[in-house]
Amino acid sequence: NEDLAELRVCLRRLDPPVCYSSYQAFVTLATNDNYAKGAMVLGRSLRNHHTTRKLVVLVGPQVSDPCQSVLKKLYDEVRLVDVLDSGDTAHLAMMKRPDLGVTFTKLHCWTLTHYSKCVFMDADTLVVSNIDELFEREELSAAPDPGWPDCFNSGVFVFCPSMATYDRLLQYSTEHGSFDGGDQGVLNGFFSSWSTADISKHLPFIYNLSSIAIYTYLPAFKQYGANAKVIHFLGQTKPWSHTFDPKTRQVRGEGAQDVAASHSSFLLDWWTLYSAEVVPMLQGHYGDQPFH
Ligand code: UDP
Ligand code: MN
Repeated sequence: NEDLAELRVCLRRLDPPVCYSSYQAFVTLATNDNYAKGAMVLGRSLRNHHTTRKLVVLVGPQVSDPCQSVLKKLYDEVRLVDVLDSGDTAHLAMMKRPDLGVTFTKLHCWTLTHYSKCVFMDADTLVVSNIDELFEREELSAAPDPGWPDCFNSGVFVFCPSMATYDRLLQYSTEHGSFDGGDQGVLNGFFSSWSTADISKHLPFIYNLSSIAIYTYLPAFKQYGANAKVIHFLGQTKPWSHTFDPKTRQVRGEGAQDVAASHSSFLLDWWTLYSAEVVPMLQGHYGDQPFH
């Protein structure tokens, strides 16, 4: 027993006095230049709200060099993920389910095993307040989907990188596919106890405020919208589908009329950040060519 006590003391001394937060990261994904622009705004917004965690972006081979250069300035780590070229289980999975290409790329976030815990965020999200407290949550924590609240929305979720989980996820997606054709279907199938097992894994909606919810429940938006921490521009029309006139501060283009009616202020926030802090970085890489 004495030996055992001594062993315990030794083990405690071995425990390194590390700052665990340096092993935690926000992770996003961009497979093309449009989503890369979204990732730039997201990265900037996380920095502007003084996150203490690392920032990681997974990029596909189609993201151009100028965009990768800007991402390298904003993110601690820019990791190229080429599923077709990976030669691992992801490649095999992809041969069976070519429709799930982007999904397999997203699942790569589980391979970031040099971090103990991460928060994945879609490239079409915008952080409007510090959200570092999300690292107190466990895998898999996420907010309900506004369209089907028994499913979680996979635009923002807390996870723990692990090769074992990654392999199981790939196996699950090749066997079962995705009921919605994307990562949300796969992840809800895999983490199927989310809706009932543990309420602490239900993130408050303000961590993934989908713009769609504003249309569908305006009184709730009026009551709680001011507390929003993350805006998610979910759906077909993305902020970068519009155009912006910095002089008049007007957002124009596809669907801008509908958008203007309800969540124009968030769209304006996205464009203000993009034009003031991202465009100058891009112009540095494109010479005198205007980049919009
Ligand atoms: N994504 C990507 N390239 C694509 C489609 C999606 O990189 O062609 C990534 C990106 O991070 C995006 C996420 O996958 O935010 C989920 O897709 P999206 O946001 O378009 O889906 P929605 O939230 O509208 O359902
Ligand atoms: Mn999204």
